[in-house]
Amino acid sequence: MPLHIRTPYLRSSPLSQHQDVWLKLEALQPCGSFKLRGVGALCEARLAQGARGFISSSGGNAGIAAAYAGRALGVPVRVVVPETTSARARQIILDTGAQLTVHGSHWAEAHALAEELTGPQDAFVHPFDDPLLWQGHAVLVDEMAEQGPKPDVVVLSVGGGGLLCGVLEGLWRNGWFDVPVLAVETVGADSYAQSLKAGHPVALPRITSIATTLGAKQPCDESVHRAQRHPVHSLVVSDAEAVAAAVRLMDDHRLVVEPACGAALAALTQGHPLLNVARSIAVVVCGGVTTPDTELRALHARLSAPH
Ligand SMILES: *Cc1c(COP(=O)(O)O)cnc(C)c1O
Repeated sequence: MPLHIRTPYLRSSPLSQHQDVWLKLEALQPCGSFKLRGVGALCEARLAQGARGFISSSGGNAGIAAAYAGRALGVPVRVVVPETTSARARQIILDTGAQLTVHGSHWAEAHALAEELTGPQDAFVHPFDDPLLWQGHAVLVDEMAEQGPKPDVVVLSVGGGGLLCGVLEGLWRNGWFDVPVLAVETVGADSYAQSLKAGHPVALPRITSIATTLGAKQPCDESVHRAQRHPVHSLVVSDAEAVAAAVRLMDDHRLVVEPACGAALAALTQGHPLLNVARSIAVVVCGGVTTPDTELRALHARLSAPH
């Protein structure tokens, strides 16, 4: 039995105004995001290879998924997070049964310690850059192919590019080579947009978006390489648009997701030439548990107020 669940693939009535909008509801995974698919597959493979512990350096949904996978598989997990990780995220990691170490003023420092702490018996669980992780994420496209019609375009959020690599793998193994992907980021976390433009991975000097879950300073190499073998287009939305779209999902479908996930949903209102000609649009509702509903509403009020 895999650790993830088969999520609903829902034709959204409120969002299907001019065309069909299908939502792949990854927010309903047991730990609240698609991350469990790849992280679960990776942890199961490492356990089978003899790993005795899992180590993660993510204070976000990847660390939470690693904690969940460890508990489910009976393997101890250590998550090293920087001081900037929210109290809520720390609490979820602890409640899920992992050991939490707080170290460093930013992710790179926490990551360096996590690598140092990784012994020969441990498996390091990367948040976005591992082929096993992508294979796990790809299963969500297998499910879409069974659950609904072939879409004209797939819309998703991009941070480090793990979800994108997985979805592309899923499209290929289902023969959907002609289904383009719209990769959405927020302003200030748009390392993938800049990398596509440059033709190679580009590092941002800093992350200025509130969608910190999308805040990989540089996407993984493979996410940029794969765009040479598949139609991948990029869209950058504002923080305000991402938050507004997350609030709209809350009102329309009673689901709470992070601004990182709101970014993909914002494409529907923001518009893009690919979407204008599509009759059916699939959106990966990737989820995320580190922004509670009260915080989403407060952000929405702040960001939509006149300056
Ligand atoms: C991890 C994550 C992303 C970004 O995924 P990548 O694989 O890093 O591109 C987007 N949204 C949510 C909610 C996530 O947890």
